[in-house]
Amino acid sequence: MQKLSCITCGKKFGINENHVVCECGGLLDIIQPIEELKRLNLKKVFDERLGSRELPNASGVWRYRELLFDAERIISRFEGNTRLYPSEKLSAKLGVELFFKHEGENPTGSFKDRGMTVAITAGVNAGCHNFVCASTGNTSASLASYCAAAGLPAVASAKVGLNGIVIIPNGKIALGKLSQALAFGAKVLQIDGNFDAAMKLVNELGKKFDSKNPADSIYVLNSINPFRIEGQKTIVFEILQQLNWDAPDWIVLPAGNLGNTSAFGKAISEAFELGLIDRKPRIAAVQAAGANPFFKYFENKWKKFEAMENPETIATAIKIGNPQSFLRARRAVEETNGVVLEVSENEIMDAKAEIDAAGIGCEPASACSLAGIRQLVANGKVKKGEKVVGVLTGHLLKDPDATMNYHAGKLTGIDSARANRPRRIEASVKAVLAAIK
Ligand SMILES: [Zn+2]
Repeated sequence: MQKLSCITCGKKFGINENHVVCECGGLLDIIQPIEELKRLNLKKVFDERLGSRELPNASGVWRYRELLFDAERIISRFEGNTRLYPSEKLSAKLGVELFFKHEGENPTGSFKDRGMTVAITAGVNAGCHNFVCASTGNTSASLASYCAAAGLPAVASAKVGLNGIVIIPNGKIALGKLSQALAFGAKVLQIDGNFDAAMKLVNELGKKFDSKNPADSIYVLNSINPFRIEGQKTIVFEILQQLNWDAPDWIVLPAGNLGNTSAFGKAISEAFELGLIDRKPRIAAVQAAGANPFFKYFENKWKKFEAMENPETIATAIKIGNPQSFLRARRAVEETNGVVLEVSENEIMDAKAEIDAAGIGCEPASACSLAGIRQLVANGKVKKGEKVVGVLTGHLLKDPDATMNYHAGKLTGIDSARANRPRRIEASVKAVLAAIK
């Protein structure tokens, strides 16, 4: 049986005690019963579930449920099952064996669905009906979708569906980003104050959580929720299974709030301890230079972590100055002999154009993976012939403005070297033939 353990004071709780954070305010880890799990032949169990058409086995998250937690009722949208694309062209260019794991292929277009299915399931099994997050982007889209899906007749045991609540700063964000949350029917509440104020409010709501009266309490789904980390671990489990449990040398990912970095470290350690793999891939966490507090922490040899006041980057999904999970993420880098690097705006958008032009496509933050891989190859950290997986976290369509402005050459400080501009031509066959030469 799994346990909750505080990473600050060490206090332990049962998995069903409904805690999101510790009484001391510290973040919680979910401790997996490794010795118990060793007795199961998990590799065989997971492989036998592939190809199943029914839940839970058909979910690319719940397929690995022994390594998550035991839930009576699952809220799932058949998430996960995202593709692992070999990239022959880029492999040849970089001299490595390169794959892209495309998490933008999840139901709402980002990796967030993996953590959301597990965290909402935990809340529902605890008897909760009200779910909240502070987010202007992918998290709110995912929360809204899963709350809506849980109310469908297929899962009629939900009382009257779930109450999805998204808290956002007033007037400081583009409503376009919230179109998914609105469409899925979440209650979008704008407050006077910035994003930090929204987050603070969510944390206060979380502290009022009454485990004796979960139905009237509000369950927090921001990344402090340990069940989200558990769900995000399955990105790594799925990569390993897709590579037939032959671990890659490197897993390279964008790093903002550091939830994925933490989850990947936990997944790699668990997979190794359980004997699913016989060596640990190294993690490379890639930050945007304009939002790089974790990179600085790594560069000063973990002496001091300093939050950043005004992070700025086109990669909005990782525009985070005060990541909540930096201690967990540090552990992930240390345990996998990993590295942290930073990339410029130009490197990000060029890498994005290259991933897009390969027919795969991604949102700007995702392109940090390829920009980071380039650096690691150039400085010799990644050796010729090594097997490298770059994780793409969000779909191309998440941020069409960034793509259009890049190709129109409208982004300040970015040279748009791979711009593909539309051309106006006369409506004649002659003009078409001349234009495609
Ligand atoms: Zn504690």
